[in-house]
Amino acid sequence: MSEDIDTTNQKSTVQLAFSGVMKAYREQGSLSKKDRKKYLKALKRILIKRQEDFVSAISEDFGGRSSMETKFAEILMLVFSIRHTLQNLDEWMENQSSDTHWAFWPARLQVRPQAKGVVGVISPWNYPLKLALTPLAQAISAGNRVLLKPSELAPKTSSLVEEIITEIFPADVVRVVTGGAEVATEFSKLPFHHLFFTGSYQTGKKIMAAASQNLTPVTLELGGKSPALIHPSYSISKAASRIATGKLLNAGQTCLAPDYVLCPKDRVGDFVNAITKTIKKTHSKIENNEDYTAIFGPKHLQRLQSLLTDAEGKGAKIHVINPSQEELMKKMAPTLLTEVSDEMTVMQEEIFGPILPIVPYTNLDEAIAFINDRPRALAVYYFDNRSKRVRQVLNQTVSGGVCINDTILQISQESVPFGGIGQSGMGRYHGKAGFDTFSHLKTVYYQSRFSVIPFVLKTPYTKLIRTLVRFLMWR
Ligand code: NAD
Repeated sequence: MSEDIDTTNQKSTVQLAFSGVMKAYREQGSLSKKDRKKYLKALKRILIKRQEDFVSAISEDFGGRSSMETKFAEILMLVFSIRHTLQNLDEWMENQSSDTHWAFWPARLQVRPQAKGVVGVISPWNYPLKLALTPLAQAISAGNRVLLKPSELAPKTSSLVEEIITEIFPADVVRVVTGGAEVATEFSKLPFHHLFFTGSYQTGKKIMAAASQNLTPVTLELGGKSPALIHPSYSISKAASRIATGKLLNAGQTCLAPDYVLCPKDRVGDFVNAITKTIKKTHSKIENNEDYTAIFGPKHLQRLQSLLTDAEGKGAKIHVINPSQEELMKKMAPTLLTEVSDEMTVMQEEIFGPILPIVPYTNLDEAIAFINDRPRALAVYYFDNRSKRVRQVLNQTVSGGVCINDTILQISQESVPFGGIGQSGMGRYHGKAGFDTFSHLKTVYYQSRFSVIPFVLKTPYTKLIRTLVRFLMWR
């Protein structure tokens, strides 16, 4: 879809797409259970059938994306999510009866999940398929119509997403609008019934400001600096291996990647040796390694390089693991940083690449205070086998989610909510949480034919009601 912006009285493409979908919603309402299931099944089928096309499109957008990472972290996760929804949708859609306070008997109460209406979805480039289609599928499961704006920075994937969407969904159920920041800005100002955004904290603030003009509810799935904290009693080599796996997935360009490590002061050397050893095995070559994803374009590579230059200039020690010999580098070798300090940009911004600063600490309280001194993260990773201390970290830190003794895997489960808190986002999705996010949980009070309430609750208030209120207050 081309991005012709309104310069005369004509509506822009974005506005036309929005009013088309909104008109259909007003005239035809939300999607039936049968249609929801039909679309979700078709989406699942086409994802599996065209998986190789997605692998190629995403790899072209990245200039080299591991095909297995695309298959398991995007396509398989989406298939799991849709399958879980199809298995549970009947139950989620049921109206729930609820207890009525005895003073209001025999009235009845019900909560009816109802589609919100028309949902806007804005998605980023780092998992350009999964992060566009997971919220879309969940909005459909709740019966909504959807307008999707995928990332302009992943044009091959976005155009393939548009192609399959057009194949599966009628234009009055789902529409894709493509374009850059200008289109995205216009998109976020539309009076959606819900706006779902995945991307950076900086853009998230703009989205929320734009949505506030219409009081559009927003879900913001953002990123941030997720710490990995290792207790001295935990195996350093095991922690190093699991942190390396989480850090190097998608070359660190994952919202949930461990951003930095809090390591016991006297084990920093051991950790550097252990993670170097494990990465030398798993990533024995860099540039021609098909299982290791490229950095998303020269701008990002430059940004990561300048983080290193800044850190080195301010006294950090850089440990590059398996530096590439190639001239034209698209990939970045995993890089550890020691002797880091708060003045370094690498300790202030989300890294979003294969750079891992290691911060020494002397005791657990100090490590917890370090985490709590910073904005709330999307994840906290804690490595320890002692449940009392695990409870302490769970109780004393606040983050979107936690993974104990591993990294990233908390996102893999559809039966639990996923989302950030504070600077890492607001709202949640996945499974039932996604269905609820895109539904209005509407309370209905059914008055009974024989209720006393209409006789009691009317003016002038009688002695009976005054006594009753006093009695109810104290009983
Ligand atoms: P981004 O914020 O630059 O862009 C995301 C989307 O917002 C794109 O579609 C873009 O066109 C659109 N956009 C840009 N400017 C806009 C504006 N002014 N108004 C409305 N929309 C606008 O993010 P990115 O660089 O594509 O993605 C990386 C970020 O996303 C990282 O911070 C990462 O942590 C975060 N992220 C979070 C999750 C999560 O689930 N929490 C998942 C993946 C990525």
